[in-house]
Amino acid sequence: MHGVLRVKRNIVEYLKESAEKYPDKTAFLDERRKITFKELDDEAQKIAALIYARCGNIRNKPIAVYMEKSVECIVSFLGIAYSGNFYSPLDVHSPIERIHKIIDVLQPAAVIYHTEEPDELDDCREKISIQDIEKAEIDISIREKYKNTADIDPLYVLFTSGSTGQPKGVVISHRGVIDYTEWLYDTFSFDADTIFGNQAPFYFDNSILDIYSTLRNGACMVIIPETLFRFPKVLMDYINENSINTIFWVPSALIGLANSGILDKIHADKLQRVLFCGEVMPNKQLNIWRKNYPDILYANLYGPTEITDVCSYYIVNREFQDEEPLPIGIACRNTEILVLNDNNELVGENELGELCVRGTCLSMGYYGDQEKTSKAFVQNPLNSKYCDTIYRTGDLVKYNAYGELVYVSRKDFQIKHQGHRIELGEIEAAAGSLEGVNQACAVYDNCNKKIVLFCTLSAELTEKMIYRLLQDKLPQYMLPKKIKILSALPLNINGKIDRVTLKSNCM
Ligand code: AMP
Repeated sequence: MHGVLRVKRNIVEYLKESAEKYPDKTAFLDERRKITFKELDDEAQKIAALIYARCGNIRNKPIAVYMEKSVECIVSFLGIAYSGNFYSPLDVHSPIERIHKIIDVLQPAAVIYHTEEPDELDDCREKISIQDIEKAEIDISIREKYKNTADIDPLYVLFTSGSTGQPKGVVISHRGVIDYTEWLYDTFSFDADTIFGNQAPFYFDNSILDIYSTLRNGACMVIIPETLFRFPKVLMDYINENSINTIFWVPSALIGLANSGILDKIHADKLQRVLFCGEVMPNKQLNIWRKNYPDILYANLYGPTEITDVCSYYIVNREFQDEEPLPIGIACRNTEILVLNDNNELVGENELGELCVRGTCLSMGYYGDQEKTSKAFVQNPLNSKYCDTIYRTGDLVKYNAYGELVYVSRKDFQIKHQGHRIELGEIEAAAGSLEGVNQACAVYDNCNKKIVLFCTLSAELTEKMIYRLLQDKLPQYMLPKKIKILSALPLNINGKIDRVTLKSNCM
């Protein structure tokens, strides 16, 4: 019996229901430990109790989670949600300068860390060790707190690369995640037998699908050790050994396996669904997957962090030539996609326009940055009668003859490199801030998939020296593959840096 459909307001309700239905079933596992739904519920409540003990009666405040990807991160996220606050996962491998920038914006009420107290987070008011869970007690008065929240309260803030060098904190509500998770359930039929093989880092929005679908459906999420992605055979063996049947990865990871030739050699017995999102998935490599594993469901999901992970999808249902683009499909339920041309009119077939989104999925903007928020989240130009916000993605798309959306390119200079979203401006800002560097311009060599940095200097610096200095400022994946020192940067007729000329000088 289906019973009365009760609309959820807080993701803690997913956890509570699964803990009741499947108390002893493994919910999440990493290399070191497993956790059942009941244990997860208990530990999350203890985290909530620790937050109250240390921070007092706070609500709707940010709490940073600063630890390696692990089961403990999930415990922390849920503990924070239990306490009526919202989490922000920080990348422990990011240079400290970037972490400080994020902390400056976020001003977290507390930071939850793993074993060693992070000296680098001295500015944070409260530091809570996850180990303190052992001493903590469940507090009955706290465990009901989440019930007093509204579904528009934030669940998390994820920081993406900002074009001014300042990372932007995207605020997402419980409502956005619940709406998304319910749609995923109806579309992909996840259930208690689903075993997700998680690839996405927790500071990247693709992880939202794995985490919340696991909680909602009493499923299981296996955190795949990051190092395995470098070893195709070991990775495929791991998928089989852990009976992983569903993956939602960035295309780069799928492309890596396809190019390695491993798909010919190892059969993935249990794999049922291969979903992907985050960048273009080339049909060339998808066809290798489809040839080797023809019975799997493949789906191309599309969306930026600002719209709760995904706003359009295409379930692969026909053959494609290697060189054809794979559509990003149609809008998800309860979501409208407007493709607007430069005059803010809806485009016709084959006309290029910017993909704009309206719906429950929309973020509540950038944390602490009204100015950037009002640039990206704007009044729907097709409606002047009431407040109707759309998010302008900056992605250029068109409709094909099937009425499906096809992704074409970025409007600005944001790129996707090794699955990471990077604004070239952030690299330029970092390089430009180095002593001895006058001007810096980063371009992306699409053919060879490399970031090239052009600099003009005011001091005696070598390419190697610049690279080493940048290592302290940028995460590994943002570092330029090549640095070229020029006497002056070329300018176009408007007097702006001529990126087109620079791009043709990448070699
Ligand atoms: P992020 O906020 O990190 O998820 O990055 C969002 C950006 O990634 C989008 O604005 C697109 O430029 C790109 N992107 C996401 N999904 C796809 C897809 N399926 N195909 C092509 N580009 C994508």
